[in-house]
Amino acid sequence: MEVVRCSKCSKRATISLRHPKLNLCAEHFKEYFENRLTKTIKRYKMIKKGESILVAISGGKDSIALLHALCNALGDKVEIKAIHINLGIKQYSSKCLRISRDFLKKLDIEHYIIDLKREYGFTVDEAVSKLQFKRAPCSICGLIKRRVLNDYALKLKVDKLATGHTLDDEATFILTNYASGNLDLLLRSGPAIPTKYGILISRIKPLYEISELETTLYCMINNLSYVEEECPYSKEAPTISLKQMINQIENIRLGFKISLIRTYNRMIKPAISSFYAQLEEEPKFCRDCGYPTNADYCAFCRLKRKIIRKS
Ligand code: SF4
Ligand code: ZN
Ligand code: ZN
Repeated sequence: MEVVRCSKCSKRATISLRHPKLNLCAEHFKEYFENRLTKTIKRYKMIKKGESILVAISGGKDSIALLHALCNALGDKVEIKAIHINLGIKQYSSKCLRISRDFLKKLDIEHYIIDLKREYGFTVDEAVSKLQFKRAPCSICGLIKRRVLNDYALKLKVDKLATGHTLDDEATFILTNYASGNLDLLLRSGPAIPTKYGILISRIKPLYEISELETTLYCMINNLSYVEEECPYSKEAPTISLKQMINQIENIRLGFKISLIRTYNRMIKPAISSFYAQLEEEPKFCRDCGYPTNADYCAFCRLKRKIIRKS
Protein backbone atom coordinates (compact mmCIF):
# COMPACT_ATOMS: atom_id res chain seq x y z
CA MET A 1 0.00 0.00 0.00
CA GLU A 2 1.30 3.44 -0.89
CA VAL A 3 2.34 5.58 2.11
CA VAL A 4 0.96 9.15 2.01
CA ARG A 5 3.67 11.67 2.94
CA CYS A 6 3.24 15.04 4.69
CA SER A 7 3.04 17.94 2.20
CA LYS A 8 5.59 19.89 4.34
CA CYS A 9 8.14 17.19 5.30
CA SER A 10 8.90 13.59 4.47
CA LYS A 11 7.11 12.06 7.48
CA ARG A 12 4.08 9.86 7.07
CA ALA A 13 0.92 11.99 6.90
CA THR A 14 -1.67 11.33 9.61
CA ILE A 15 -4.22 13.88 8.39
CA SER A 16 -5.62 14.51 4.93
CA LEU A 17 -7.53 17.75 4.40
CA ARG A 18 -9.71 18.22 1.34
CA HIS A 19 -9.87 22.02 1.37
CA PRO A 20 -7.15 23.18 1.11
CA LYS A 21 -5.87 19.89 -0.27
CA LEU A 22 -3.09 18.96 2.16
CA ASN A 23 -1.62 15.83 3.72
CA LEU A 24 0.01 16.62 7.04
CA CYS A 25 1.92 14.91 9.84
CA ALA A 26 0.84 15.69 13.42
CA GLU A 27 3.49 18.41 13.91
CA HIS A 28 2.62 20.18 10.67
CA PHE A 29 -1.10 19.97 11.34
CA LYS A 30 -0.53 21.80 14.66
CA GLU A 31 1.51 24.44 12.84
CA TYR A 32 -1.13 24.70 10.08
CA PHE A 33 -3.96 25.14 12.64
CA GLU A 34 -2.16 27.81 14.66
CA ASN A 35 -1.19 29.67 11.46
CA ARG A 36 -4.80 29.60 10.31
CA LEU A 37 -5.81 31.04 13.67
CA THR A 38 -3.34 33.95 13.46
CA LYS A 39 -4.25 34.61 9.81
CA THR A 40 -7.96 34.79 10.73
CA ILE A 41 -7.15 37.18 13.59
CA LYS A 42 -5.17 39.39 11.18
CA ARG A 43 -7.71 39.20 8.33
CA TYR A 44 -10.53 40.51 10.52
CA LYS A 45 -8.27 42.79 12.66
CA MET A 46 -9.42 41.06 15.84
CA ILE A 47 -6.55 41.71 18.26
CA LYS A 48 -3.87 44.38 18.73
CA LYS A 49 -0.54 43.69 20.42
CA GLY A 50 -0.70 44.13 24.21
CA GLU A 51 -4.48 43.80 24.50
CA SER A 52 -6.13 41.65 27.16
CA ILE A 53 -8.43 38.88 25.95
CA LEU A 54 -10.96 36.93 28.00
CA VAL A 55 -11.58 33.51 26.44
CA ALA A 56 -14.89 31.74 27.18
CA ILE A 57 -14.36 28.02 27.87
CA SER A 58 -17.36 25.69 27.75
CA GLY A 59 -15.43 22.40 27.97
CA GLY A 60 -16.28 21.51 24.36
CA LYS A 61 -13.67 20.84 21.66
CA ASP A 62 -13.95 24.26 20.01
CA SER A 63 -13.24 26.47 23.02
CA ILE A 64 -10.55 24.07 24.33
CA ALA A 65 -8.78 24.12 20.94
CA LEU A 66 -9.17 27.91 20.77
CA LEU A 67 -7.55 28.61 24.13
CA HIS A 68 -4.74 26.10 23.59
CA ALA A 69 -3.90 27.47 20.12
CA LEU A 70 -4.24 31.09 21.23
CA CYS A 71 -1.77 30.56 24.10
CA ASN A 72 0.68 28.86 21.71
CA ALA A 73 0.35 31.39 18.91
CA LEU A 74 -0.08 34.69 20.76
CA GLY A 75 0.65 33.99 24.44
CA ASP A 76 3.72 36.28 24.38
CA LYS A 77 1.97 39.15 22.57
CA VAL A 78 -1.35 39.52 24.41
CA GLU A 79 -2.66 38.95 27.92
CA ILE A 80 -4.92 35.89 27.92
CA LYS A 81 -7.47 35.14 30.67
CA ALA A 82 -10.18 32.49 30.66
CA ILE A 83 -13.65 32.04 32.10
CA HIS A 84 -15.99 29.07 32.50
CA ILE A 85 -19.66 29.37 33.51
CA ASN A 86 -21.28 26.50 35.39
CA LEU A 87 -24.72 26.75 33.80
CA GLY A 88 -26.41 24.10 35.96
CA ILE A 89 -27.68 21.86 33.14
CA LYS A 90 -28.39 18.41 34.60
CA GLN A 91 -25.26 16.18 34.72
CA TYR A 92 -23.91 17.80 31.56
CA SER A 93 -22.68 20.95 33.32
CA SER A 94 -20.79 18.91 35.97
CA LYS A 95 -18.80 17.23 33.18
CA CYS A 96 -18.13 20.58 31.49
CA LEU A 97 -16.96 22.03 34.80
CA ARG A 98 -14.62 19.11 35.57
CA ILE A 99 -13.00 19.12 32.12
CA SER A 100 -12.68 22.91 31.98
CA ARG A 101 -11.22 23.11 35.49
CA ASP A 102 -8.63 20.38 34.75
CA PHE A 103 -7.66 22.05 31.48
CA LEU A 104 -7.41 25.55 32.98
CA LYS A 105 -5.30 24.32 35.92
CA LYS A 106 -2.66 23.08 33.48
CA LEU A 107 -2.35 26.47 31.75
CA ASP A 108 -0.39 29.23 33.38
CA ILE A 109 -3.11 31.89 32.95
CA GLU A 110 -5.54 33.82 35.15
CA HIS A 111 -8.92 32.07 35.03
CA TYR A 112 -12.37 32.30 36.60
CA ILE A 113 -15.07 29.70 37.27
CA ILE A 114 -18.50 31.31 37.61
CA ASP A 115 -21.38 29.48 39.24
CA LEU A 116 -24.59 30.81 37.70
CA LYS A 117 -26.79 29.74 40.63
CA ARG A 118 -24.52 31.33 43.23
CA GLU A 119 -23.83 34.55 41.32
CA TYR A 120 -27.18 35.16 39.57
CA GLY A 121 -29.63 33.11 41.66
CA PHE A 122 -30.81 30.54 39.08
CA THR A 123 -29.55 27.78 36.78
CA VAL A 124 -30.28 27.29 33.07
CA ASP A 125 -32.38 24.23 34.02
CA GLU A 126 -34.51 26.36 36.36
CA ALA A 127 -34.86 29.13 33.76
CA VAL A 128 -35.91 26.63 31.08
CA SER A 129 -38.46 24.84 33.29
CA LYS A 130 -40.00 28.11 34.48
CA LEU A 131 -40.24 29.61 31.01
CA GLN A 132 -41.35 26.40 29.30
CA PHE A 133 -43.06 26.86 25.91
CA LYS A 134 -42.28 30.60 25.88
CA ARG A 135 -38.75 30.45 24.53
CA ALA A 136 -36.45 27.70 23.21
CA PRO A 137 -33.86 26.44 25.77
CA CYS A 138 -30.86 27.48 23.61
CA SER A 139 -32.28 30.96 23.21
CA ILE A 140 -32.64 31.32 27.01
CA CYS A 141 -29.18 29.85 27.58
CA GLY A 142 -27.61 32.04 24.87
CA LEU A 143 -29.06 35.19 26.40
CA ILE A 144 -27.76 34.21 29.86
CA LYS A 145 -24.27 33.30 28.59
CA ARG A 146 -23.89 36.52 26.58
CA ARG A 147 -24.86 38.57 29.61
CA VAL A 148 -22.66 36.78 32.15
CA LEU A 149 -19.65 36.89 29.83
CA ASN A 150 -20.10 40.58 29.19
CA ASP A 151 -20.56 41.31 32.92
CA TYR A 152 -17.24 39.61 33.66
CA ALA A 153 -15.44 41.17 30.70
CA LEU A 154 -16.47 44.55 32.16
CA LYS A 155 -15.47 43.60 35.72
CA LEU A 156 -12.08 42.32 34.59
CA LYS A 157 -11.60 45.36 32.31
CA VAL A 158 -10.46 43.27 29.34
CA ASP A 159 -10.31 44.64 25.79
CA LYS A 160 -11.91 41.68 24.01
CA LEU A 161 -14.08 38.68 24.72
CA ALA A 162 -13.19 35.63 22.57
CA THR A 163 -15.59 32.75 21.94
CA GLY A 164 -15.11 29.38 20.22
CA HIS A 165 -17.63 29.89 17.39
CA THR A 166 -16.42 28.00 14.33
CA LEU A 167 -16.89 28.23 10.59
CA ASP A 168 -19.71 25.66 10.89
CA ASP A 169 -21.51 27.71 13.58
CA GLU A 170 -21.25 30.90 11.56
CA ALA A 171 -22.36 29.40 8.23
CA THR A 172 -25.37 27.87 10.03
CA PHE A 173 -26.16 31.13 11.80
CA ILE A 174 -26.07 33.14 8.57
CA LEU A 175 -28.35 30.74 6.68
CA THR A 176 -30.83 30.38 9.59
CA ASN A 177 -31.26 34.11 10.06
CA TYR A 178 -31.21 34.82 6.35
CA ALA A 179 -34.07 32.33 5.86
CA SER A 180 -36.13 33.87 8.67
CA GLY A 181 -35.28 37.45 7.62
CA ASN A 182 -33.81 38.26 11.02
CA LEU A 183 -31.67 41.17 9.84
CA ASP A 184 -31.16 42.54 13.32
CA LEU A 185 -29.49 39.33 14.52
CA LEU A 186 -27.46 39.04 11.31
CA LEU A 187 -26.12 42.53 11.87
CA ARG A 188 -25.06 41.72 15.42
CA SER A 189 -23.03 38.71 14.22
CA GLY A 190 -19.64 38.57 12.54
CA PRO A 191 -15.98 37.81 13.28
CA ALA A 192 -15.27 40.97 15.30
CA ILE A 193 -17.91 43.19 16.88
CA PRO A 194 -16.53 46.42 18.33
CA THR A 195 -17.26 47.71 21.85
CA LYS A 196 -20.55 49.64 21.92
CA TYR A 197 -21.79 52.34 24.32
CA GLY A 198 -18.79 51.57 26.55
CA ILE A 199 -20.77 48.67 28.04
CA LEU A 200 -20.97 45.93 25.39
CA ILE A 201 -17.40 44.63 25.24
CA SER A 202 -15.90 43.83 21.84
CA ARG A 203 -16.44 40.18 20.84
CA ILE A 204 -14.13 38.21 18.61
CA LYS A 205 -14.31 34.75 17.02
CA PRO A 206 -10.77 33.60 16.16
CA LEU A 207 -12.10 30.24 14.83
CA TYR A 208 -14.32 32.07 12.34
CA GLU A 209 -12.67 30.36 9.35
CA ILE A 210 -11.81 27.05 11.07
CA SER A 211 -14.11 24.03 10.89
CA GLU A 212 -15.27 21.73 13.69
CA LEU A 213 -13.48 18.85 12.03
CA GLU A 214 -10.23 20.80 12.37
CA THR A 215 -10.83 21.68 16.06
CA THR A 216 -11.52 17.99 16.77
CA LEU A 217 -8.28 16.95 15.05
CA TYR A 218 -6.33 19.67 16.89
CA CYS A 219 -7.63 18.40 20.27
CA MET A 220 -6.81 14.80 19.36
CA ILE A 221 -3.29 15.59 18.21
CA ASN A 222 -2.58 17.63 21.34
CA ASN A 223 -4.19 15.04 23.66
CA LEU A 224 -6.68 17.61 24.92
CA SER A 225 -9.71 16.19 26.74
CA TYR A 226 -13.06 17.74 25.95
CA VAL A 227 -16.72 17.00 26.67
CA GLU A 228 -17.87 14.63 23.93
CA GLU A 229 -21.42 14.31 25.18
CA GLU A 230 -24.02 16.66 23.67
CA CYS A 231 -25.96 19.09 25.86
CA PRO A 232 -29.43 17.55 26.56
CA TYR A 233 -31.11 20.66 25.12
CA SER A 234 -29.19 20.48 21.85
CA LYS A 235 -31.66 17.88 20.52
CA GLU A 236 -34.26 20.62 20.47
CA ALA A 237 -32.02 22.95 18.45
CA PRO A 238 -33.10 23.06 14.77
CA THR A 239 -29.58 24.14 13.75
CA ILE A 240 -28.16 20.60 14.11
CA SER A 241 -29.85 19.24 10.99
CA LEU A 242 -29.00 22.43 9.08
CA LYS A 243 -25.32 22.04 10.06
CA GLN A 244 -25.36 18.49 8.65
CA MET A 245 -26.95 19.70 5.42
CA ILE A 246 -24.35 22.47 5.03
CA ASN A 247 -21.63 19.85 5.41
CA GLN A 248 -23.27 17.76 2.69
CA ILE A 249 -23.12 20.79 0.36
CA GLU A 250 -19.48 21.33 1.38
CA ASN A 251 -18.72 17.72 0.37
CA ILE A 252 -20.06 18.37 -3.11
CA ARG A 253 -18.81 21.94 -3.42
CA LEU A 254 -15.52 22.32 -1.57
CA GLY A 255 -15.04 25.78 -0.07
CA PHE A 256 -18.80 26.49 0.16
CA LYS A 257 -18.72 27.43 3.87
CA ILE A 258 -15.76 29.82 3.60
CA SER A 259 -17.24 31.43 0.51
CA LEU A 260 -20.59 31.87 2.30
CA ILE A 261 -19.17 33.65 5.36
CA ARG A 262 -16.72 35.79 3.37
CA THR A 263 -19.38 36.95 0.90
CA TYR A 264 -21.70 37.69 3.79
CA ASN A 265 -19.07 39.86 5.50
CA ARG A 266 -17.84 41.60 2.38
CA MET A 267 -21.13 42.32 0.64
CA ILE A 268 -24.30 41.47 2.53
CA LYS A 269 -23.50 42.75 6.02
CA PRO A 270 -22.46 46.25 4.80
CA ALA A 271 -25.71 46.48 2.79
CA ILE A 272 -27.85 45.56 5.83
CA SER A 273 -25.80 47.92 7.94
CA SER A 274 -26.40 50.94 5.69
CA PHE A 275 -30.12 50.09 5.55
CA TYR A 276 -30.26 50.05 9.37
CA ALA A 277 -28.22 53.27 9.66
CA GLN A 278 -31.14 55.15 8.04
CA LEU A 279 -33.50 53.77 10.69
CA GLU A 280 -31.13 54.23 13.63
CA GLU A 281 -32.95 55.44 16.73
CA GLU A 282 -31.53 56.97 19.89
CA PRO A 283 -30.33 54.07 22.08
CA LYS A 284 -32.34 53.34 25.21
CA PHE A 285 -30.82 51.87 28.36
CA CYS A 286 -32.40 49.36 30.76
CA ARG A 287 -33.90 51.03 33.83
CA ASP A 288 -32.58 48.25 36.04
CA CYS A 289 -29.08 47.47 34.83
CA GLY A 290 -28.16 50.17 32.30
CA TYR A 291 -27.52 47.78 29.38
CA PRO A 292 -28.74 48.96 25.94
CA THR A 293 -32.22 47.82 24.98
CA ASN A 294 -35.11 48.79 22.72
CA ALA A 295 -37.63 48.54 25.59
CA ASP A 296 -37.76 49.94 29.13
CA TYR A 297 -36.02 46.85 30.51
CA CYS A 298 -33.44 44.67 28.76
CA ALA A 299 -34.16 41.05 27.77
CA PHE A 300 -31.98 39.69 30.60
CA CYS A 301 -33.75 41.71 33.32
CA ARG A 302 -37.13 40.70 31.88
CA LEU A 303 -36.03 37.05 31.94
CA LYS A 304 -34.84 37.34 35.55
CA ARG A 305 -38.15 38.88 36.63
CA LYS A 306 -40.16 36.08 35.00
CA ILE A 307 -38.02 33.45 36.77
CA ILE A 308 -38.45 35.17 40.15
CA ARG A 309 -42.21 35.60 39.61
CA LYS A 310 -42.61 31.89 38.93
CA SER A 311 -40.48 30.81 41.92
FE1 SF4 B 1 -26.95 26.18 26.13
FE2 SF4 B 1 -28.22 25.16 23.96
FE3 SF4 B 1 -25.55 25.09 24.13
FE4 SF4 B 1 -27.03 23.56 25.73
S1 SF4 B 1 -26.90 23.41 23.48
S2 SF4 B 1 -25.24 24.77 26.34
S3 SF4 B 1 -28.78 24.90 26.11
S4 SF4 B 1 -26.83 26.93 24.00
ZN1 ZN C 1 5.26 17.15 8.30
ZN1 ZN D 1 -31.43 45.17 32.36
